[in-house]
Amino acid sequence: MNILAIGAHPDDVEFYCAGTLLKYARAGHKVFITLTTSGNIGSNVIVGREEIARIREQEQLESAKLYNNAAVRFLRNDDEGLLDSPKLRSDLIDAIRWASPDVILTHFPGDMSTDHNVTGTVVGRVMLSLPGKNVPATEAPMTTAPALFYWDTAAGLHFEPEAYVDVSDTMEDKLRGLGMHKSQFAWLSTFQDVSLTEHSRILGSFRGLAVGRKYAEGFRAYRIHGYMPDWKLLP
Ligand SMILES: [Zn+2]
Repeated sequence: MNILAIGAHPDDVEFYCAGTLLKYARAGHKVFITLTTSGNIGSNVIVGREEIARIREQEQLESAKLYNNAAVRFLRNDDEGLLDSPKLRSDLIDAIRWASPDVILTHFPGDMSTDHNVTGTVVGRVMLSLPGKNVPATEAPMTTAPALFYWDTAAGLHFEPEAYVDVSDTMEDKLRGLGMHKSQFAWLSTFQDVSLTEHSRILGSFRGLAVGRKYAEGFRAYRIHGYMPDWKLLP
């Protein structure tokens, strides 16, 4: 299968679904990543938004190698300024068509981070446009209907998983990938006490508790007529 993870910022894919992506990659599936922004305000130390974006894209490209060299597509919208727009819709349609995924993983629309909820919301909004020939987009229309699953939120707020993936065997590599987003450790420590990797381990452990496993990642599903969740597609 082709698996597409769509995040708002560099580090979101590693933080929210890397345990699951690593399982897909190890089972021989092809992984693709798309980011709606390059996180260009995500530092108070690096000088200049272009330089922040450049460093963070590099960190994302490095961590993408963990999933058998996942292909990465950057949409390069401004960080914390994402809005639903015709351009974002056509860029996301093109990104999805480019990956031709069987499964899409993305942010939950109820996530209170603006870029997260706009990304998750707009991915849901373009699902019915994927096969349309007359949709403003450049990639060829899809002839198959991908499944769309939403990953967890930071600290699990506003999110009750409907399904869980046991990531006990991929958690340490997930944390290694997260550690590659070096620029984010100084940034996030300016407003929270728990590091990115500690936070991820706690959330994985908490979700694991619900299903009697050491670590798990939780998911919910997108639903619309013709797109009911097929949970068997999760690893
Ligand atoms: Zn984010």
